[in-house]
Amino acid sequence: MDRHQVSLAGCHDYSRDSVREAVGRTLELLGGVGSIVAPGESVFLKANNVIAASPDTAVVTHPEVMRALVKEFQRITDRVIVGDCPGGPFTRAMLKRVYGKTGLAVVAEETTAELAMDTGVAEVSLPDGKMMKRFTLCKSMMEADHLVSVSKFKTHRYMNVTGPVKNLFGTVPGMTKFSFHSRFEDERDFADLVVDIHLACRPAFHIVDAVEVMQGEGARSGSKRKLGFIAAGRNAFALETLVLELAGLKLEDSRPLKAAIDRGVCPGEGGWFDVLGDDRQNLSIDDFQLPSRNFFSERTLALLTERLSRHFTARPRPLPDVCTGCGRCAEICPRKAITVKNGLAHVDLKSCIRCFCCEELCEYGAIRITTPFFVRTTGS
Ligand code: SF4
Ligand code: SF4
Repeated sequence: MDRHQVSLAGCHDYSRDSVREAVGRTLELLGGVGSIVAPGESVFLKANNVIAASPDTAVVTHPEVMRALVKEFQRITDRVIVGDCPGGPFTRAMLKRVYGKTGLAVVAEETTAELAMDTGVAEVSLPDGKMMKRFTLCKSMMEADHLVSVSKFKTHRYMNVTGPVKNLFGTVPGMTKFSFHSRFEDERDFADLVVDIHLACRPAFHIVDAVEVMQGEGARSGSKRKLGFIAAGRNAFALETLVLELAGLKLEDSRPLKAAIDRGVCPGEGGWFDVLGDDRQNLSIDDFQLPSRNFFSERTLALLTERLSRHFTARPRPLPDVCTGCGRCAEICPRKAITVKNGLAHVDLKSCIRCFCCEELCEYGAIRITTPFFVRTTGS
C-alpha cells in the first residue's frame, strides 16, 4: 500500500472565519482542491444529513464546514453539488425538510451550489464485496465525477463511532438503510457491509468535522463535546485512525475500522500515513465517552435468546412527555416493532433487534436508550 497523508487543522468554533481558515489549510496541505477536481468536472460534497437536526445538536455536518468547502471547490469548478441521502422515505419532501433544518439549503442558496434533490438510484458493483457485491445507491452521488465525503465524527450505538468510514453508508437510499439493519443483525456483519459500501463508492476525498461532536449515548442521546479540529485525506481509514487517536480511542473502538483491518483493506496500527499540519499533541484528549461499554455483549445476548434479552439488554424507550405520536419511528423500524397508540410510540421488545434506528431518526429526541439496572451495575 502506498504511503498516505492526512492533514489536521485546529478549529475551536464554527465561526465562518475559523472554519474557512481550517478547511482551507487542510486542503492546501494535501495539494489543494486542484489536485482533486479539474475545471468543468462535477463534485458531490456529501454531508452527514442523516436527519432533520439543527447543526447545534452535533448530529449533522455543520453548514459552515459545507460552506467553506463549496467556496474552495468553486475556485476550480462551477459544478459543485451538496447534499445527502437521509434516513426515512427518499423523497423530495424529505430532502427539503432535512436540508432546511440542517442549514444546507441556506448554504446552497448563498453559494449557488446545486442542492441535491434527485431521488434517483444507480446500481454499483463491488466484485470483491464481502457481504454484498451489488448495491443500489443514490444516483446523483454515484454519477458525479468526484464524490467527497464530509463526515461528522460522533458516537453511534450500533457501530460505536461514526465518521469518515461510515459516512458513505449514507449513499444508501432512505428506507433501504433500515432493511440492512434487519438483514445484517450481527454488528460485525453490518460493519463489513459498511466497509463494502465505502469501497463501492470509490470516494475521491474525505473531510471530517470534529469541531463539536457527540459523545456518550449517540447517535442522538449523547452530550456535545468539543474536539476542536477539522482533518482531511484521500484515505478514510487513515483519517479515521487519526480521529480515534486524537479522541484517545483504540482502533477497535470503530467497528467499521476494525472490520477493514480484519479483512486487510486497512493496515491497522503503525506509521503507514503522515499527518501534516497542526501538532497532534495539542489537539488530543483522553476522556472521550463511548456508548455504554456493555452494549455489544448485551446485543449478543439479544441475538441468543429473546427471553434473556428482555431482561439484560439496552432498549429504546419512548418518552411520553416528548413523543408527538408522529409515527415516523414506526415507519422506519426494520422489524415493525413500534406501534403508535393514543399519540405515543410503543416498542415491542420481543421483536426489537436493538438497531437503535428509531433513536437516531426521531427528530424530537423522544426515544432514549435505557440499560437495565442489573446490567449497569455488573457491567456484564
Ligand atoms: S418516538 Fe419520535 S418518531 Fe416515534 S412517534 Fe414519538 S415523536 Fe414520532
Ligand atoms: S424498535 Fe427501534 S431499536 Fe428496535 S428494531 Fe425498531 S428501530 Fe430498531
